[in-house]
Amino acid sequence: MPDAAVRSRAPERTCIGCRRKANPAGQLVRVARRPDGSLAVGRLEPGRGAWLCAGSEACFEGAVKRRAFGRALRCEVPGRELDVLRGKLLSGGPSAPHGPTGQGWEGVGGA
Ligand SMILES: [Zn+2]
Repeated sequence: MPDAAVRSRAPERTCIGCRRKANPAGQLVRVARRPDGSLAVGRLEPGRGAWLCAGSEACFEGAVKRRAFGRALRCEVPGRELDVLRGKLLSGGPSAPHGPTGQGWEGVGGA
């Protein structure tokens, strides 16, 4: 698997929390909906996926508020699943959040 060939055409994904485009490698985590309705984290999970900035609580909460998960995954996402997902996303990362702060919120709420 030649990495160089992949890198030149790395796809960009949009975080459903902050709408920022980023390279999925290392910067974003993927949330997928399993057939049983539960939410899984990982880029290899099958099914429709949604992307979030890795380890960003602000992006997660923003996505929850705007119901972006339901829109991205094309399904109703129960609140308890979001609670489980919150634990998966925000527990495993580094304890010190270093997401984008002081920028990005202006302009949200347009379209
Ligand atoms: Zn984000």
